[in-house]
Amino acid sequence: MTGFTTTILHSDRQNAIGHGSLHKPVHTSVAFGYDDARDLALVFQGKQPGYRYGRQGNPTVTALEQKITKMEDGVASLCFATGMAAIGAIPQALLRAGDHVVSSAFLFGNTNSLWQTVAGLGVQVSMVDATDVAHVEAALTSATRMVFVETIANPRTQIADLARIGALCKARGILFVVDNTMTSPYLFRPKTVGAGLVVNSLTKSIAGHGDVLGGCITDTGEFDWGTYPNIAANFLKFPAQQRGMNQLRAKSLRDFGASLSADAAHQIAIGAETLALRLERECSNALRLAQLLEVHPAVAAVYYPGLPSHPQHALAGELFRAFGFLFSVELKEGIDCFDFLNRLKLAVSSSNLGDNRTLIIPVAHTIFFEMGAERRAAMGIAESLIRVSVGIEDQDDLIADFTQALAG
Ligand SMILES: *Cc1c(COP(=O)(O)O)cnc(C)c1O
Repeated sequence: MTGFTTTILHSDRQNAIGHGSLHKPVHTSVAFGYDDARDLALVFQGKQPGYRYGRQGNPTVTALEQKITKMEDGVASLCFATGMAAIGAIPQALLRAGDHVVSSAFLFGNTNSLWQTVAGLGVQVSMVDATDVAHVEAALTSATRMVFVETIANPRTQIADLARIGALCKARGILFVVDNTMTSPYLFRPKTVGAGLVVNSLTKSIAGHGDVLGGCITDTGEFDWGTYPNIAANFLKFPAQQRGMNQLRAKSLRDFGASLSADAAHQIAIGAETLALRLERECSNALRLAQLLEVHPAVAAVYYPGLPSHPQHALAGELFRAFGFLFSVELKEGIDCFDFLNRLKLAVSSSNLGDNRTLIIPVAHTIFFEMGAERRAAMGIAESLIRVSVGIEDQDDLIADFTQALAG
């Protein structure tokens, strides 16, 4: 096995490309022609590999999927137009009315909204504090089909009890789904804790430049699809280990069509080459900034897994290569968070995260505004909470910017 970045850089070359090209070309074709019409039929019948129509697959997208499969040490990946399309595909393709899901209550806001939508379609959803496996176990019923968690929750940085939830799911034969966006496969591989499916928003760290949207589901090979009750009859003809991904590709990409474009796949693949380098820098910058803020007299609290004050600091150290690029902070009462944000010269007031630039946002007033004060309180989100997604800027410049903004 070669190292993380070496593997990504040389992944395209391992499948022959004309002219010795080092990058997979951008294949813009929607349709794919066959000299022998019988081959076309075999491709349609799933008896021969090949492309049929751009909505269900494209060679440039496949090259990216293969890279992500290698990053996650999985068996197959499926790309989507956005991270939410990838997450939404999972209940869409794999759950039925009457099923039950256990989800972490500490979630990306749009995923929280997605579970409300899914609940409206007749799936029962239990939202639990997943930092302790006991809460997950207590919520399980005979109808539970999957457990869904994020690695480090955005914005409060709670860390799911990943290894113990993975072991519980394995023992009960339940699909364990992990959103790995906040750690990315460079900091953590959910396969190591028994996740069957891993989701990554490619929009964030994997692309990194904040100029393209994308999402991906990876099958780690850890889940036995032969035991999954919701595989439709026409997918039972595939070997058990391929059934989940085949059903996902058909039921979500084919039926709903949130497909990643070849141009977007190419851009994401370019970004992915430097994922490890960028994350090293971002995590080191984040740790320094979090340390600086924690002892500052204007600051009431800092939530960052890299600080010993974080309740899951030790767990994060065991699970992750580094403590991540994101922290959140509460200023002392009486300090207007908008004034503070406006004094920052480098950090941009913006809603994205995992960008090369440092981005900062007042959470309760923006991304978590719609859900209301009660739900925010249940998620541990104070009205003054500010989220900081730390970029790759030179560390001294970031320190200087935050220092002058806090001084004012
Ligand atoms: C951004 C994000 C998503 C959604 O990804 P999009 O590409 O914006 O649709 C999902 N999960 C987490 C943890 C995220 O940060």
